[in-house]
Formats: sequence, structure tokens, C-alpha cells
Amino acid sequence: MNVIKWLGAVLLSVALLMTGACTNTSTQENNQSGKESESNETKEKTTAVETGNKSLSNIKVLATGGTIAGSSDSDTDTTGYKSGSLGIDKVIASVPQLKSIANVTGEQVANVGSENVDNALLLKLAKRVNELLKDDQVDGVVITHGTDTLEETAYFLHLVVKSDKPVVVVGSMRPASAISADGPLNLYHAVKIASTEEAKGKGVMVTLNDRIASARFITKTNTTTTDSFKSLEQGYIGEVAGEVAFFYNESTRTHTADSEFDVSKLKELPQVDILYGYQNDHKFLYDAAVKAGAKGIVVAAPGNGTMSTEAIKGATDAVKKDVVIVRSSHAGNGIVTHEEMDDEHHFVSSDSLNPQKARILLMLALTKTKDPDKIQTYYEQY
Ligand code: ASP
Repeated sequence: MNVIKWLGAVLLSVALLMTGACTNTSTQENNQSGKESESNETKEKTTAVETGNKSLSNIKVLATGGTIAGSSDSDTDTTGYKSGSLGIDKVIASVPQLKSIANVTGEQVANVGSENVDNALLLKLAKRVNELLKDDQVDGVVITHGTDTLEETAYFLHLVVKSDKPVVVVGSMRPASAISADGPLNLYHAVKIASTEEAKGKGVMVTLNDRIASARFITKTNTTTTDSFKSLEQGYIGEVAGEVAFFYNESTRTHTADSEFDVSKLKELPQVDILYGYQNDHKFLYDAAVKAGAKGIVVAAPGNGTMSTEAIKGATDAVKKDVVIVRSSHAGNGIVTHEEMDDEHHFVSSDSLNPQKARILLMLALTKTKDPDKIQTYYEQY
């Protein structure tokens, strides 16, 4: 081959490689508000997933930010880094081993610390997951997410995703730039789980630190350690060991395809706030929440959902204004049982949902009814 022909061939290969790279990931780095341009949405509709290796599952990774996409100038900095700094193309590229277990395509939905995930982003994400899972070519969805509110997003999706296909939410406790970053292996495990036949029908799952958890039971229990995510009383549903995702349990509570909650026509979610219960707490907090437009209030109460005389005054006034009160607990573990005080004041008890997950269910419940008796049945069912 003469030099001109050789140069032509090299240029052509580079051009082809670049086209491949563009269809493989569609990213919008640092999209703080979670808004996406029209043209990108249209593009995604035509290139939902890569289907390169026909013997592998096609997994879509939706990125929202968090520590798994976090970075710092120092590789020993595991606390002062910036969450949501890397785009999904870089996060996926850091785990080249993914290529041997699935056809993975990335899409940036947002790039925020999960403390900034709001109701608008929840709705956007849920609608996108449902849209993708309707596509025959998509076998499963993985969502990268900050760990601080990961359990809230996972439980929301657990209640509104209309599919049996696997959905796995994954984060990391150490930023991508850290020595011994946990994100790459967690992401590898998430894709492995999402490509596993047995993961179907388990509802939305969460994986970090080799464990597979149901979104119904998982919670963050430690501010910084890699073993932070625990399914306390109910246990994990499985574990990844070596190259295999093992499943042992599943939640008996209604979820995903069997759930009656539907976000397809929702433009927003009702305002639900959480009020902490503590010694010497005040009625004015309830008054303020109602005045600010709360349609529901979750009480992060002590113990088995106990409320002070002042808190009860605030809550009963709220009920008179059609605001639904749910008693949950900040004890961190256990069930808030339905008591006489609930019947007397028309309160709802949260079962084993912690306050932040009780808020998620209450927002969805309020899209259906304001009746506390009916809402109580949701806490028993979901
Ligand atoms: N603040 C971070 C977040 O939730 C923490 C993390 O991802 O671990 O986005």
C-alpha cells in the first residue's frame, strides 16, 4: 500500500471510531438542573442502546451525578471532593471490563449531588426509565446516583416503574479520584445484576459493597464508610461474589409492574414535608408547613412514632385543613405500629418505612386520595 492510501485508511478508521464513540454514550456534563435539550431527547429515542454483541444484554446506564461521578485534585481526599463532576462517558470508560458482560450505553439525565435531586428530577427519571424499558432492545437499566438520597429515588422508582426488567441503582462512597475508589466495582456489579435473568421481577434494586438490596429495605447508615448501605431488619436480597449475582430473598410488598401508582400523566408531585420530633418541639413548625403549602406531613418522631402534646396540636390543626399526617420514626429501625391515637386524630402510621421513604409513598398516595384510611392501606401494602 502506498503512503497516500495508508494515510486515507488511517483517517477513515479514526472517523469510524469517533462515530462509534458518539453513539455509545450521550452525555450532558454538569447539567445541574436536570434539563435536557430537545435535540438530545430526540437523538436518544433513535439510539436507546448499543446492541453490538448479540450474545450480551443491552443495558442503559442513566447518570444523575453523585460521588460515583465525583472528583478531587487529591487521591486521598474522600470527603472534600465535588460530587457529580464527571460525565457518564468517563465513568463508563473507567470500567472497560463492562464490555465483556453487557452492551452498555450511557445517558446523562443530570449531574448533581443527590441532596439536589428534587421532585421534578424524580419524575423525569421515572418517565425515562419507563420509556426505555418499553423498548424491546433494552434489557435493563442502571442508574448512577449520589448516596445521600439514593434510597429515596430507588424507592420512588420501585413504586412507579412499569416493568419486570431489572432496574439497579448504584452509587459509591468514595469519589472516582480516590485511592481504592469503590465506584468502578459497584458499577460493574450493577451492570452484572441488571444482565442477570434472575434479577427480573425483583423490583428496583440497589447495589454497593457487593450486596444486592431491595429499594424497599435499603438505607444509608454511615456518613463515610464503604459499608454504609444496610437492609437492617429485613436483610439483603442477594450478593455478588466473584462473577455471579446470587439471589436469596425478595420483598413481599407490592412494587413495579403490580403497583397502582402511575407517573405517566403527572406534571408534578404534591408537597410533602418532614418534621422532626424532639424534646420541647413546637406547634408552629406544623403551622408553617401548612402555610407553605404542604399537603402531607411526615413526622420523623422518636421511638414508635410518639408525638408531644404540642406536636399533636399542630398535627390535628393540619388534619382539619385536609393535610395528611404520617407518623414515622427517627429511631432508624423497626415498625411504627398503628395505634388508637391514629384512629382518634386521623393520623396514618408508616409501617417500617423511615421518614424519607414514608414521604415518597405519601407523595404518590396523595396523587390518588386524601383519605387517611385509604392511605393507611398503602403503608400496609407497599
Ligand atoms: N453528597 C453525595 C451525594 O449524595 C454523597 C455521595 O454520593 O456519596 O451526591
